[in-house]
Amino acid sequence: MTMTEKTLPGLYIHVPFCRGKCPYCDFYSALPDEETKALYVKRTEELVSSLGKTFDTVYFGGGTPDTLGHGNIARLLSAADFTENAEITLECNPSGTGGENSTFDFCTVAEAGVNRISLGLQSAVDSERKALGRKAGIKEVLTAIRRINDTGIDNISLDIMLGIPGQTPASLSETLEFCVSSGAKHISAYMLKIEDGTYFSRIKDKLDLPGEEETSDMYLQAVDYLEKHGIMQYEISNFAVPGYESRHNLKYWRCEEYEGIGPSAHSFMSGRRYYYPRSTSDYISGIQPVFDCEGGDEKEYVMLALRLKEGVMFERFRERFSHSLPERFVEYAKFLESKGLAEVSDKSVSLSAKGFLVSNSAILNLTDLL
Ligand code: SF4
Repeated sequence: MTMTEKTLPGLYIHVPFCRGKCPYCDFYSALPDEETKALYVKRTEELVSSLGKTFDTVYFGGGTPDTLGHGNIARLLSAADFTENAEITLECNPSGTGGENSTFDFCTVAEAGVNRISLGLQSAVDSERKALGRKAGIKEVLTAIRRINDTGIDNISLDIMLGIPGQTPASLSETLEFCVSSGAKHISAYMLKIEDGTYFSRIKDKLDLPGEEETSDMYLQAVDYLEKHGIMQYEISNFAVPGYESRHNLKYWRCEEYEGIGPSAHSFMSGRRYYYPRSTSDYISGIQPVFDCEGGDEKEYVMLALRLKEGVMFERFRERFSHSLPERFVEYAKFLESKGLAEVSDKSVSLSAKGFLVSNSAILNLTDLL
Protein backbone atom coordinates (compact mmCIF):
# COMPACT_ATOMS: atom_id res chain seq x y z
CA MET A 1 0.00 0.00 0.00
CA THR A 2 1.22 3.51 -0.70
CA MET A 3 0.30 6.78 0.95
CA THR A 4 -2.06 7.52 -1.92
CA GLU A 5 -3.84 4.19 -1.34
CA LYS A 6 -4.85 5.17 2.20
CA THR A 7 -7.14 2.61 3.83
CA LEU A 8 -10.15 3.45 5.96
CA PRO A 9 -9.68 3.32 9.73
CA GLY A 10 -10.67 0.36 11.90
CA LEU A 11 -13.06 0.51 14.84
CA TYR A 12 -12.20 -1.28 18.08
CA ILE A 13 -14.89 -1.67 20.75
CA HIS A 14 -13.62 -2.77 24.14
CA VAL A 15 -16.17 -4.70 26.19
CA PRO A 16 -14.95 -4.58 29.80
CA PHE A 17 -16.96 -7.51 31.15
CA CYS A 18 -16.06 -11.14 31.91
CA ARG A 19 -17.82 -13.95 33.73
CA GLY A 20 -14.84 -14.37 36.07
CA LYS A 21 -11.20 -13.35 36.25
CA CYS A 22 -8.63 -15.72 34.76
CA PRO A 23 -5.59 -15.98 37.03
CA TYR A 24 -3.12 -14.72 34.42
CA CYS A 25 -5.14 -11.89 32.94
CA ASP A 26 -4.37 -8.19 33.26
CA PHE A 27 -6.84 -6.92 30.66
CA TYR A 28 -9.34 -4.43 31.92
CA SER A 29 -12.49 -6.38 32.76
CA ALA A 30 -14.90 -6.96 35.63
CA LEU A 31 -18.05 -8.93 36.44
CA PRO A 32 -20.99 -6.98 35.03
CA ASP A 33 -24.30 -6.20 36.68
CA GLU A 34 -27.25 -5.65 34.37
CA GLU A 35 -27.50 -1.93 35.10
CA THR A 36 -23.82 -1.26 34.33
CA LYS A 37 -24.07 -3.31 31.17
CA ALA A 38 -27.08 -1.31 29.97
CA LEU A 39 -25.35 2.01 30.69
CA TYR A 40 -22.19 0.80 28.93
CA VAL A 41 -24.19 -0.15 25.83
CA LYS A 42 -26.01 3.20 25.81
CA ARG A 43 -22.77 5.20 26.10
CA THR A 44 -21.01 3.08 23.49
CA GLU A 45 -23.91 3.39 21.09
CA GLU A 46 -23.86 7.20 21.48
CA LEU A 47 -20.11 7.35 20.89
CA VAL A 48 -20.08 4.98 17.93
CA SER A 49 -22.92 6.77 16.17
CA SER A 50 -21.26 10.17 16.67
CA LEU A 51 -17.89 9.20 15.18
CA GLY A 52 -18.74 10.45 11.70
CA LYS A 53 -16.35 8.00 10.04
CA THR A 54 -16.70 4.93 7.86
CA PHE A 55 -14.69 1.89 8.93
CA ASP A 56 -13.52 -1.11 6.96
CA THR A 57 -12.92 -3.27 10.03
CA VAL A 58 -14.77 -3.53 13.34
CA TYR A 59 -13.37 -5.56 16.24
CA PHE A 60 -15.23 -6.37 19.47
CA GLY A 61 -12.55 -7.28 22.00
CA GLY A 62 -12.34 -7.48 25.73
CA GLY A 63 -13.04 -8.71 28.25
CA THR A 64 -15.62 -11.06 26.85
CA PRO A 65 -17.81 -9.33 24.27
CA ASP A 66 -20.39 -12.14 24.18
CA THR A 67 -21.37 -11.20 27.78
CA LEU A 68 -23.27 -8.30 26.17
CA GLY A 69 -25.61 -10.78 24.48
CA HIS A 70 -26.31 -11.04 20.76
CA GLY A 71 -28.95 -8.25 20.79
CA ASN A 72 -26.57 -5.63 22.16
CA ILE A 73 -23.81 -6.61 19.72
CA ALA A 74 -26.30 -6.14 16.85
CA ARG A 75 -27.46 -2.84 18.35
CA LEU A 76 -23.89 -1.47 18.52
CA LEU A 77 -23.18 -2.60 14.98
CA SER A 78 -26.27 -0.85 13.70
CA ALA A 79 -24.88 2.38 15.20
CA ALA A 80 -21.58 2.00 13.32
CA ASP A 81 -20.90 3.04 9.76
CA PHE A 82 -18.88 0.36 8.00
CA THR A 83 -18.25 -0.66 4.42
CA GLU A 84 -20.07 -3.51 2.72
CA ASN A 85 -17.00 -5.75 2.73
CA ALA A 86 -15.82 -4.77 6.22
CA GLU A 87 -14.20 -7.44 8.36
CA ILE A 88 -16.23 -7.60 11.58
CA THR A 89 -14.74 -9.68 14.38
CA LEU A 90 -16.34 -10.75 17.62
CA GLU A 91 -14.24 -12.28 20.40
CA CYS A 92 -16.16 -15.05 22.16
CA ASN A 93 -15.62 -17.32 25.09
CA PRO A 94 -16.73 -20.94 24.65
CA SER A 95 -18.12 -20.95 28.20
CA GLY A 96 -20.72 -18.35 27.20
CA THR A 97 -21.42 -19.49 23.67
CA GLY A 98 -20.89 -23.26 23.63
CA GLY A 99 -22.67 -24.37 26.82
CA GLU A 100 -25.91 -26.38 26.79
CA ASN A 101 -27.81 -23.50 28.37
CA SER A 102 -26.22 -20.76 26.34
CA THR A 103 -28.76 -18.42 24.74
CA PHE A 104 -26.15 -16.62 22.67
CA ASP A 105 -27.40 -16.56 19.08
CA PHE A 106 -24.64 -16.47 16.45
CA CYS A 107 -27.27 -16.04 13.69
CA THR A 108 -28.32 -12.65 15.08
CA VAL A 109 -24.76 -11.33 15.14
CA ALA A 110 -24.05 -12.78 11.69
CA GLU A 111 -27.13 -11.02 10.30
CA ALA A 112 -25.89 -7.78 11.91
CA GLY A 113 -22.61 -8.11 10.00
CA VAL A 114 -20.24 -10.20 12.13
CA ASN A 115 -18.22 -12.35 9.73
CA ARG A 116 -15.27 -13.41 11.88
CA ILE A 117 -15.25 -15.04 15.31
CA SER A 118 -12.22 -15.23 17.55
CA LEU A 119 -12.67 -18.00 20.07
CA GLY A 120 -10.58 -18.43 23.23
CA LEU A 121 -9.43 -22.04 23.04
CA GLN A 122 -6.08 -21.64 24.88
CA SER A 123 -5.55 -25.41 24.89
CA ALA A 124 -7.35 -28.51 23.64
CA VAL A 125 -6.28 -30.27 26.85
CA ASP A 126 -8.93 -29.78 29.54
CA SER A 127 -6.44 -29.94 32.45
CA GLU A 128 -4.44 -27.08 30.86
CA ARG A 129 -7.59 -25.04 30.29
CA LYS A 130 -8.48 -25.63 33.93
CA ALA A 131 -5.01 -24.52 35.05
CA LEU A 132 -5.71 -21.25 33.21
CA GLY A 133 -8.99 -20.84 35.05
CA ARG A 134 -11.08 -21.54 31.97
CA LYS A 135 -14.51 -22.90 32.77
CA ALA A 136 -15.41 -24.46 29.43
CA GLY A 137 -14.12 -27.88 28.41
CA ILE A 138 -13.33 -29.00 24.89
CA LYS A 139 -16.96 -30.13 24.52
CA GLU A 140 -18.16 -26.51 24.79
CA VAL A 141 -15.45 -25.38 22.37
CA LEU A 142 -16.66 -27.91 19.80
CA THR A 143 -20.29 -26.89 20.32
CA ALA A 144 -19.40 -23.21 19.86
CA ILE A 145 -17.52 -24.01 16.63
CA ARG A 146 -20.47 -26.03 15.31
CA ARG A 147 -22.90 -23.22 16.13
CA ILE A 148 -20.67 -20.68 14.36
CA ASN A 149 -20.33 -22.92 11.31
CA ASP A 150 -24.12 -23.36 11.21
CA THR A 151 -24.47 -19.61 10.56
CA GLY A 152 -22.22 -19.79 7.51
CA ILE A 153 -19.38 -17.85 9.16
CA ASP A 154 -16.28 -19.72 8.02
CA ASN A 155 -13.69 -17.30 9.36
CA ILE A 156 -12.89 -18.66 12.82
CA SER A 157 -9.77 -17.74 14.73
CA LEU A 158 -8.63 -19.77 17.73
CA ASP A 159 -6.43 -18.33 20.48
CA ILE A 160 -3.96 -20.79 21.92
CA MET A 161 -1.31 -20.34 24.57
CA LEU A 162 2.28 -21.53 24.88
CA GLY A 163 4.05 -22.03 28.21
CA ILE A 164 0.91 -23.06 30.12
CA PRO A 165 1.51 -24.79 33.50
CA GLY A 166 1.94 -28.50 32.81
CA GLN A 167 2.23 -28.07 29.01
CA THR A 168 4.57 -30.40 27.12
CA PRO A 169 5.46 -30.78 23.43
CA ALA A 170 3.08 -33.77 23.33
CA SER A 171 0.16 -31.85 24.83
CA LEU A 172 0.87 -28.93 22.50
CA SER A 173 0.68 -31.39 19.59
CA GLU A 174 -2.81 -32.31 20.74
CA THR A 175 -3.82 -28.63 20.73
CA LEU A 176 -2.27 -27.99 17.31
CA GLU A 177 -3.96 -31.07 15.83
CA PHE A 178 -7.26 -29.84 17.24
CA CYS A 179 -6.74 -26.42 15.64
CA VAL A 180 -6.09 -27.89 12.21
CA SER A 181 -8.91 -30.43 12.35
CA SER A 182 -11.39 -27.77 13.55
CA GLY A 183 -11.04 -26.00 10.21
CA ALA A 184 -9.99 -22.73 11.88
CA LYS A 185 -8.62 -20.26 9.36
CA HIS A 186 -6.56 -18.27 11.83
CA ILE A 187 -4.58 -19.10 14.95
CA SER A 188 -3.13 -16.70 17.51
CA ALA A 189 -0.46 -18.37 19.64
CA TYR A 190 0.62 -16.26 22.59
CA MET A 191 3.23 -17.13 25.16
CA LEU A 192 1.92 -16.99 28.71
CA LYS A 193 3.36 -13.95 30.44
CA ILE A 194 3.13 -13.63 34.18
CA GLU A 195 1.96 -10.05 34.59
CA ASP A 196 2.38 -8.13 37.84
CA GLY A 197 -0.79 -7.84 39.87
CA THR A 198 -2.34 -11.06 38.56
CA TYR A 199 -3.07 -14.10 40.71
CA PHE A 200 -0.41 -16.06 38.82
CA SER A 201 2.20 -13.47 39.79
CA ARG A 202 1.44 -14.18 43.45
CA ILE A 203 1.78 -17.96 43.14
CA LYS A 204 4.45 -17.97 40.43
CA ASP A 205 6.87 -20.18 42.41
CA LYS A 206 4.21 -22.86 42.78
CA LEU A 207 3.31 -23.00 39.07
CA ASP A 208 4.59 -25.93 37.04
CA LEU A 209 5.72 -23.68 34.18
CA PRO A 210 7.75 -25.07 31.27
CA GLY A 211 11.26 -23.60 31.11
CA GLU A 212 12.17 -20.76 28.77
CA GLU A 213 14.01 -23.04 26.36
CA GLU A 214 11.20 -25.56 26.34
CA THR A 215 8.66 -22.81 25.64
CA SER A 216 10.83 -21.48 22.80
CA ASP A 217 10.99 -24.99 21.33
CA MET A 218 7.22 -25.25 21.58
CA TYR A 219 6.90 -21.94 19.72
CA LEU A 220 9.02 -23.32 16.87
CA GLN A 221 6.99 -26.54 17.03
CA ALA A 222 3.78 -24.51 16.58
CA VAL A 223 5.24 -22.51 13.65
CA ASP A 224 6.41 -25.68 11.95
CA TYR A 225 3.21 -27.67 12.47
CA LEU A 226 0.82 -24.90 11.45
CA GLU A 227 2.80 -23.97 8.35
CA LYS A 228 2.98 -27.64 7.28
CA HIS A 229 -0.81 -27.61 7.42
CA GLY A 230 -1.21 -24.44 5.37
CA ILE A 231 -1.73 -22.02 8.28
CA MET A 232 1.09 -19.62 7.59
CA GLN A 233 2.83 -17.34 10.04
CA TYR A 234 2.29 -13.66 9.19
CA GLU A 235 3.13 -12.08 12.55
CA ILE A 236 5.15 -13.10 15.60
CA SER A 237 2.11 -14.72 17.22
CA ASN A 238 -0.37 -14.98 14.35
CA PHE A 239 -0.99 -17.54 11.64
CA ALA A 240 -3.58 -17.74 8.88
CA VAL A 241 -4.67 -19.62 5.84
CA PRO A 242 -3.57 -17.13 3.14
CA GLY A 243 -6.30 -14.55 2.66
CA TYR A 244 -7.59 -14.92 6.22
CA GLU A 245 -5.04 -12.68 7.99
CA SER A 246 -6.75 -10.36 10.46
CA ARG A 247 -7.30 -7.15 8.51
CA HIS A 248 -8.06 -5.28 11.71
CA ASN A 249 -4.92 -6.33 13.56
CA LEU A 250 -2.80 -5.66 10.48
CA LYS A 251 -3.76 -2.01 10.92
CA TYR A 252 -1.96 -1.98 14.29
CA TRP A 253 1.21 -3.50 12.89
CA ARG A 254 1.19 -1.37 9.74
CA CYS A 255 0.69 1.81 11.76
CA GLU A 256 -2.64 2.55 10.16
CA GLU A 257 -5.49 4.40 11.83
CA TYR A 258 -8.04 2.99 14.26
CA GLU A 259 -10.56 4.42 16.66
CA GLY A 260 -10.95 2.69 20.03
CA ILE A 261 -14.17 3.00 22.03
CA GLY A 262 -14.68 1.67 25.57
CA PRO A 263 -12.76 1.77 28.86
CA SER A 264 -9.02 1.17 28.25
CA ALA A 265 -9.45 1.29 24.45
CA HIS A 266 -6.63 3.00 22.54
CA SER A 267 -6.87 5.01 19.33
CA PHE A 268 -4.43 6.17 16.69
CA MET A 269 -5.86 8.88 14.47
CA SER A 270 -4.20 11.74 12.57
CA GLY A 271 -0.81 10.92 14.11
CA ARG A 272 -2.09 11.09 17.71
CA ARG A 273 -2.44 8.27 20.20
CA TYR A 274 -5.12 8.59 22.88
CA TYR A 275 -7.14 6.29 25.12
CA TYR A 276 -10.05 5.95 27.49
CA PRO A 277 -8.96 5.40 31.12
CA ARG A 278 -9.45 1.96 32.68
CA SER A 279 -12.67 2.80 34.48
CA THR A 280 -16.13 1.71 33.35
CA SER A 281 -17.85 4.15 35.72
CA ASP A 282 -15.85 7.11 34.35
CA TYR A 283 -16.57 5.93 30.82
CA ILE A 284 -20.28 5.70 31.49
CA SER A 285 -20.25 9.17 33.08
CA GLY A 286 -18.88 10.63 29.86
CA ILE A 287 -15.14 10.99 30.46
CA GLN A 288 -13.22 12.06 27.34
CA PRO A 289 -10.25 10.14 25.94
CA VAL A 290 -6.83 11.13 27.27
CA PHE A 291 -4.00 12.19 24.93
CA ASP A 292 -1.10 9.71 25.10
CA CYS A 293 1.54 10.81 22.59
CA GLU A 294 2.28 11.61 18.97
CA GLY A 295 2.58 8.33 17.07
CA GLY A 296 3.67 6.80 13.81
CA ASP A 297 7.28 8.03 13.66
CA GLU A 298 9.99 6.01 11.91
CA LYS A 299 11.02 4.05 14.98
CA GLU A 300 7.52 3.06 15.90
CA TYR A 301 6.68 2.20 12.30
CA VAL A 302 9.72 -0.07 11.94
CA MET A 303 9.26 -1.63 15.37
CA LEU A 304 5.70 -2.64 14.49
CA ALA A 305 6.53 -3.72 10.93
CA LEU A 306 9.25 -6.06 12.22
CA ARG A 307 6.58 -8.02 14.08
CA LEU A 308 5.24 -9.00 10.66
CA LYS A 309 6.60 -11.78 8.52
CA GLU A 310 6.59 -9.35 5.58
CA GLY A 311 8.85 -7.10 7.68
CA VAL A 312 9.78 -3.55 6.70
CA MET A 313 9.14 -3.00 3.02
CA PHE A 314 11.71 -0.57 1.58
CA GLU A 315 9.28 1.03 -0.86
CA ARG A 316 6.53 1.51 1.72
CA PHE A 317 9.01 3.06 4.14
CA ARG A 318 10.28 5.44 1.45
CA GLU A 319 6.77 6.52 0.48
CA ARG A 320 5.77 7.14 4.08
CA PHE A 321 8.89 9.00 5.23
CA SER A 322 10.22 10.39 1.91
CA HIS A 323 13.66 8.82 2.35
CA SER A 324 15.22 5.36 2.40
CA LEU A 325 16.17 3.21 5.35
CA PRO A 326 19.79 3.97 6.32
CA GLU A 327 22.46 1.64 4.93
CA ARG A 328 23.65 0.78 8.47
CA PHE A 329 20.16 -0.61 9.20
CA VAL A 330 20.34 -2.96 6.21
CA GLU A 331 23.94 -3.92 7.09
CA TYR A 332 22.95 -4.91 10.62
CA ALA A 333 19.96 -6.86 9.23
CA LYS A 334 22.43 -8.76 7.01
CA PHE A 335 24.49 -9.57 10.11
CA LEU A 336 21.31 -10.95 11.76
CA GLU A 337 20.64 -12.90 8.57
CA SER A 338 24.07 -14.55 8.84
CA LYS A 339 22.96 -15.80 12.29
CA GLY A 340 19.67 -17.16 10.92
CA LEU A 341 17.66 -14.45 12.69
CA ALA A 342 16.58 -12.29 9.76
CA GLU A 343 15.93 -12.29 6.04
CA VAL A 344 17.05 -9.50 3.74
CA SER A 345 15.87 -9.19 0.14
CA ASP A 346 15.91 -6.34 -2.35
CA LYS A 347 12.40 -5.45 -1.17
CA SER A 348 12.41 -5.87 2.60
CA VAL A 349 14.03 -6.75 5.92
CA SER A 350 12.20 -9.23 8.10
CA LEU A 351 12.86 -11.45 11.10
CA SER A 352 12.87 -15.24 10.78
CA ALA A 353 10.91 -17.55 13.13
CA LYS A 354 14.11 -17.87 15.22
CA GLY A 355 14.53 -14.10 15.06
CA PHE A 356 11.00 -13.67 16.43
CA LEU A 357 12.15 -15.54 19.54
CA VAL A 358 14.67 -12.78 20.24
CA SER A 359 12.54 -10.06 18.71
CA ASN A 360 12.85 -7.64 21.62
CA SER A 361 16.61 -7.28 21.34
CA ALA A 362 16.72 -7.65 17.53
CA ILE A 363 14.08 -4.93 17.05
CA LEU A 364 15.73 -2.66 19.62
CA ASN A 365 19.13 -2.99 17.96
CA LEU A 366 17.69 -2.37 14.51
CA THR A 367 15.58 0.63 15.48
CA ASP A 368 18.57 2.18 17.30
CA LEU A 369 20.17 2.47 13.85
CA LEU A 370 17.42 4.70 12.45
S1 SF4 B 1 -11.87 -14.25 29.67
FE1 SF4 B 1 -10.14 -13.19 28.69
S2 SF4 B 1 -10.35 -11.05 29.26
FE2 SF4 B 1 -11.69 -12.22 30.63
S3 SF4 B 1 -10.47 -12.59 32.46
FE3 SF4 B 1 -10.18 -14.37 31.12
S4 SF4 B 1 -8.37 -13.88 29.85
FE4 SF4 B 1 -9.08 -11.97 30.81
